[in-house]
Amino acid sequence: MVISLKTDKSDILALLRNSRDYVSGQQLCDQFGVSRTAVWKAVNQLKEEGYRIEAVSRKGYRLLESPDVLSRSEILSRLETKWAGQRLFYLDETGSTNIDAKRYAEEGEPHGTTVVAEKQNAGRGRRGKYWESPPGSAIYMTIMLKPDFEPDKASMLTLVMALSVAQAITEATGLKAGIKWPNDVVVNKKKVCGILTELDAEMDYIRHVVIGVGINVNNAAPEEFPEEIRQTATSLRIESGTGFSRAELLRHVLERFEENYDTFVTTLDLRLLIEAYSQYLLNLNAEVNVLDPKGSYTGIARGISTTGELLVEKENGEMKTVYAGEVSVRGLYGYI
Ligand code: ATP
Repeated sequence: MVISLKTDKSDILALLRNSRDYVSGQQLCDQFGVSRTAVWKAVNQLKEEGYRIEAVSRKGYRLLESPDVLSRSEILSRLETKWAGQRLFYLDETGSTNIDAKRYAEEGEPHGTTVVAEKQNAGRGRRGKYWESPPGSAIYMTIMLKPDFEPDKASMLTLVMALSVAQAITEATGLKAGIKWPNDVVVNKKKVCGILTELDAEMDYIRHVVIGVGINVNNAAPEEFPEEIRQTATSLRIESGTGFSRAELLRHVLERFEENYDTFVTTLDLRLLIEAYSQYLLNLNAEVNVLDPKGSYTGIARGISTTGELLVEKENGEMKTVYAGEVSVRGLYGYI
């Protein structure tokens, strides 16, 4: 089922963005079956949101500049997915987009519903960790899924998302993104993205899964991060020296995720995605320190299994299968 909830405003924005020349008011009316007044109102709303739109009599409208806003229309006007993010909730401020997405799931919203926020007051990470979520510079989003596979498959979705974000960053920014198994996306050995997957399930049935993604995009300087993560966190802007459109990056994330998820469900494991994932896997053939609560050990990561575990070769040659749930992995001399 394709759900399209695009507003006229998003449609008008998309058309203006995609045409280099002026678009006449009449053309906009005809295309969307709305009145001249409706077009005029939509254009004015876009201007209020910070778009610079030129209006020239007898020629029409032309988009001169888009602000880096993460509004609903800015996202929907770009999105060409079938189901990922087509049902979209945008919030200026919230506690945690994962919690919102769970509530929407319970209220009956469909598979693929996505929540995006400008600011999170209680952004969370794995195992009670936090996610620093200031406004204006980052992406905080959660996609909610209602899969009909068994709950034990859900942990692989974290890796599917990590792959999607790494691909999206590479495509949208040209930066070389990598994955620190299982769920961190890294640029120049520093973390730009964290992913938190949460499951609501019975023994043999998934009610819903939410996958939260935080990406540091336009944070201007390391000083913008709290002291304790300044050595390990970075943003795409800090690493490249230039800013990026968050909406455009978000579009890439949702498009890649939809494609990778649809591939994943054909086999319900990662066998068709392992090759792509491994290209981004920074731990591959590198020494890792496995911080297992039952006892830490070191070894060399040899890749992932088809079900997403990290395969670590210990010094005595023994191959360990590392499950993501309980452990953190560190490089021997730092974060990676
Ligand atoms: P790690 O392996 O990096 O410790 P994790 O995978 O166990 O992380 P996550 O949920 O991915 O846990 O991330 C939470 C951690 O990320 C926090 O404990 C903090 O150290 C760090 N962090 C918090 N906010 C940010 C941010 N905006 N950018 C980068 N790192 C952050």
